[in-house]
Parts: sequence; structure tokens; C-alpha cells
Amino acid sequence: MRITIFGTGYVGLVTGVCLAEIGHSIHLHDIDQAKIKLLKSKKIPIYEPGLLKLFKKHLKAKNVQIDSDPYKALQASSIYFICVGTPQLSNGKPNLKYLLDVSNNIKDYIDQNRSNRKTFIVLKSTIPPGTTKELQTKIFKEDTYKNIHLGSNPEFLREGNAVYDFMNSERIVIGSDSAEFIRTLQRIYSPFTKKSKIHVTDPQSSELIKYGSNAFLATKISFINEISKLSDKVGGNIDLVAQGMGMDARIGSEFLNAGLGYGGSCFPKDTQALAYTFSKNKIPSKIIQSVIDINNEQKIYFFNKILDRFSKKELKSKSLLFLGTAFKPHTDDIRESVGISLINMISPIVKRVTIFEPIAKENSINALSKLNNVRFQKTRTPSINKNYDFMILATEYPMFLKIPYQNFKKLKDKVVFDGRNILNKDKLKKNGIEYIGIGK
Ligand code: NAD
Repeated sequence: MRITIFGTGYVGLVTGVCLAEIGHSIHLHDIDQAKIKLLKSKKIPIYEPGLLKLFKKHLKAKNVQIDSDPYKALQASSIYFICVGTPQLSNGKPNLKYLLDVSNNIKDYIDQNRSNRKTFIVLKSTIPPGTTKELQTKIFKEDTYKNIHLGSNPEFLREGNAVYDFMNSERIVIGSDSAEFIRTLQRIYSPFTKKSKIHVTDPQSSELIKYGSNAFLATKISFINEISKLSDKVGGNIDLVAQGMGMDARIGSEFLNAGLGYGGSCFPKDTQALAYTFSKNKIPSKIIQSVIDINNEQKIYFFNKILDRFSKKELKSKSLLFLGTAFKPHTDDIRESVGISLINMISPIVKRVTIFEPIAKENSINALSKLNNVRFQKTRTPSINKNYDFMILATEYPMFLKIPYQNFKKLKDKVVFDGRNILNKDKLKKNGIEYIGIGK
């Protein structure tokens, strides 16, 4: 089927390329001309394992085409996937401006062309419960636009695994009041039905599934982080606690790792948006608000561990080695990265921060350009040497586990702060390294 994708960010580009892989003909459009230029030159604006190869394959085969002109993108098909950003405003409310811009463009196009063709608008962006209905009552009024079929189809891919997740999705959620919309999406996704369960709902439930899922995973993270503070106090080991808890299939071990808390472009904004939606509906959101508060406090809790270990006077002359700024491994995304926040907190009180980041280096250099005591290592693997006094680990890259434990001895103070609890405390101890993790 011929499909136009609006928005070529993490979700739009992956969706477009993966839909091409299952046989659809894709048109990609973005308002960001720099991204369009890059895509036309066979490059992609983001890092995502496997994406570039698939993109080039389908560009060459003309299964993927890039439209810089929005009119051409609208003309190209009558199935529109909206994958634009829904970033957070200062009050937590999601900014629906980009979604409304695309929706109004579609409406104008249909009006101008007096088009009566069947049009399908697929809302893939994460949108607050009630948004699909609101678009239907305010923009695509049902009695005027009888041939426009609208629905929510939230995306669950994880950055760093996006192509795999899209191609092997556990569930595809389709929320619409239009039977024709549901049938069309079922056809689009039919090659996936062996692996993926298609879950059909009304639009509001579909929108809530996305927020509920992200908020639930964020809750698991904040929950174990809260327990980790008690574990620190009573002398337990939070890793063993989490393992023991996770052995219960009802609980599960995923998202149950204590650490610096969640970051990224989804959990922080989606939990805020959910809290905002609760308050808009005059319902107190006790759990969600606590999850947000615990997460915000977690990096301060960790920062205070550094202040407990070194006096401010001592820190002034210290050179810090900092491993990892991406909000999680295998992505170049640093939006709401806890590592970046920590560097902003620490750099003013130490002599120098030297960062090693394997994937999100370019974005991190831009984000931290105002800090004049911050440097980046140029090596492919982290170099630990006597130029550094102590070390902080903030992203759980598997490559950090391959660092020989005796290398940490080269740190002048022989102190390692592990913000993700991934290093082996006992092995470090055996090598004379002081290990400071979270909850152990
Ligand atoms: P992104 O910021 O990476 O990309 C959004 C793109 O939309 C940008 O390239 C922007 O230029 C483009 N855009 C804005 N207005 C446009 C317009 N009028 N026409 C065409 N393009 C336009 O965002 P993202 O991370 O891909 O997220 C998109 C949506 O998907 C958000 O609602 C997000 O919450 C949701 N989501 C994201 C992820 C993720 O892991 N990133 C996962 C699931 C869901």
C-alpha cells in the first residue's frame, strides 16, 4: 500500500523504513529541511542499529521516497501516518502544535482539492487520551468529512532496538471508531500477524494503553530506586533484592534495576503528560506524581554520594572521567539524559570532566558546549589512566563491562561511582578500588 509518513524522527523514519521492508511504498516528509537534505543524500539523521542499511536498500529500490514539498507528500497517498513530536510544555502538558499543523494541512488539502477519496489518518505520535476524539470533533468533523477515517496506533519501539522492535512487535494497538480504519491497518500490518497480537480498541483506550505502559515501566524504575535507598541504609544489596523479586513471574525482572533513574524522550514527558491529564480531569494522581518526584530526586541522591565522599574543596582540584551521556545504550539520543544533567551539576565544582561516549558524542558535544572544563575522549574504547582522579559511570553500555578491572587502579583516587550498578563491586574491591553504587 502507498503510505505517507509525516515526521522522520526516531519513530517516523523507523516506521517508514520498516513498512517498506514488509512491502509498502513509502513517502517520507519532514518540515526540517536539513533532515530532508540528509535523507536525500542517503544518510539518516539518527543512529539506530540496522536502520541505515535498510533505508539505503529501500531508497535504491524506490520503495522509500523523500518529499520535501508537503503538497507532494499529501498527493502521494491517502494513508497518512503522523509521527511528529509531542514534546512537553513547561506545565507538563504535551505540545500538540505539530500534530495540529499536520492535521490542518491534511484538512486544507482535502478542502482545496474537494477530494472525496477515502483518507486514513494514523496517529502514531504519543497523544493524551481524548486527542483522537478531539481531532474528530474539531478538525475532521464526522458529518462533513465522511470519508476521513481516523485512529490511534501508538508506537512501542525502544530507541537503540527500534528496527528489531518494529519488526518483532509483541502487540499492535489500533484504536478507532471506524471499522474501515481498523480493517485498513490490519491489512497494512498483516505480515506481522504471526509474531504480533493486534489489539483493537476505541481511540481513548488505545491512547491510554500507551501512557499506561510507559508510566507503569517508569513506576517499576522509581519503585526499585526507592527500595535502593532503604537498602543503602540497612546494608542490603539492591541487585540481589531486584533479582529475587524478579524471579516472581508476576513481578518480572525487566525495568527493575536501581540506578540514576529514567531519562530519554518518552518516560519523563509521558509521565508528566499523564499527571497533567489527571489534574485536568480533576483526579489526584498519587502514584504517577510520586514516580516523577522519585525520579527527579534520584540523581540528587547520587550526586550527594559524591559530596559525601569528597569535600567541595577536594573536588575543586579533581579531574573526573565520565562514562556515558546517552540516556541509554545504543542511541545517540540525549534528550532528558540523566548523564547530561549530572555533568551540568558536577562540572562547576570539579577541575575537569573528561567524557567517553561511543554513540551520542556529537549531540553531547553540542549540548555541553557552554561548559569550558568539559572534554571528550577521542578513543573508540574508554581510556582509563592517571590523568583522572575518579570515575562516574552513567550509561550501561555493555562495552564498559569489558574494561579489565585492574585498569581502574590507574585512577589516582581509585574511586568509582557506578550510576547504573553494572560493575562488579567484589572484583573492584579485590583490585583495591572503592566502589560506590546505588543501594549496595
Ligand atoms: P522526533 O523529535 O525524533 O521527530 C519528530 C519529527 O517530526 C521531527 O523530525 C520534526 O521535524 C518533524 N515534524 C514536526 N512537525 C512536522 C510537520 N508539520 N510535518 C512533518 N514533520 C514534522 O520525535 P520521535 O522521538 O520520533 O517521537 C515522535 C512521537 O512518537 C512522539 O509523540 C513520541 O512521544 C512518540 N514515541 C517516541 C518513541 C521514541 O523512542 N522516540 C517511542 C514511542 C513513541
